[in-house]
Amino acid sequence: MTVPDAVLALADVSKRYDGHVALDQVSIEVTKGECLALIGESGSGKTTLLRCFNRLTTPDAGTVAFEGADVAGLDPIALRRRIGYVPQEGGLLPHWRVGRNVELVPWLQGLDDRRVRARHALDLVGLDPGTYAERWPRELSGGQRQRVAVARALAADPEVVLLDEPFGALDAITRADLQASFDSMRRELGLTCVLVTHDLHEALALADRVAVLRGGRVEQSASADELRRAPATEYVRTLLHRARISDA
Ligand code: ADP
Ligand code: MG
Repeated sequence: MTVPDAVLALADVSKRYDGHVALDQVSIEVTKGECLALIGESGSGKTTLLRCFNRLTTPDAGTVAFEGADVAGLDPIALRRRIGYVPQEGGLLPHWRVGRNVELVPWLQGLDDRRVRARHALDLVGLDPGTYAERWPRELSGGQRQRVAVARALAADPEVVLLDEPFGALDAITRADLQASFDSMRRELGLTCVLVTHDLHEALALADRVAVLRGGRVEQSASADELRRAPATEYVRTLLHRARISDA
């Protein structure tokens, strides 16, 4: 079944690595302007699933569609301009200054205004380009580096952003700060987002909908409220209990 206004859609996607199942017949859709959180333990298939959307992973079976078109038939570079990506470790090139890192995707596109775009993207994530564009990644705090990673994902003005545990390695205060600015920014820009996290609190706070992955399968995909109210499986119930989320 396909939702008519789905921006991203995976249907029956499976992926194995040397016989090991990473994704097992996953179907999932993301509608325009929605933030979907993918939550699950380490090894549950979150990163593999996320990377199916921008063709960094090729499924063994099933289809992946972006705005109704099978991504297998789309030019990967053009696709990655329209789908911003924040990789799990941020992915900044250490020997490139901040500004050049942020310009990467517009530069790959051959866009003349890449410098303007990069400055605008830095502004969006709350970093003054005058102060930060000339710095090296190593001259930034962990939180600032993550902001730059998000700026880089936004610089080509994408419709969709994929974020792989973007706030994972930060201290609690920095994390809360980044979560809040991400939340207001994605609403303001009307971005469609897929946010990978292993923190159920983060998923419930930031996402409209949450998909719980376990061993490459989706245990439940539901609104944050519904997940809290009506966990579909014992595993989801256990997750809620462990996170001390009460109504389960
Ligand atoms: P998560 O992001 O939830 O931690 P991953 O999607 O990275 O999970 O991994 C899912 C499973 O697939 C894991 O068992 C992992 O070891 C395996 N896997 C992922 N990528 C590769 C790869 N490139 N080669 C071999 N195995 C992989
Ligand atoms: Mg991962």
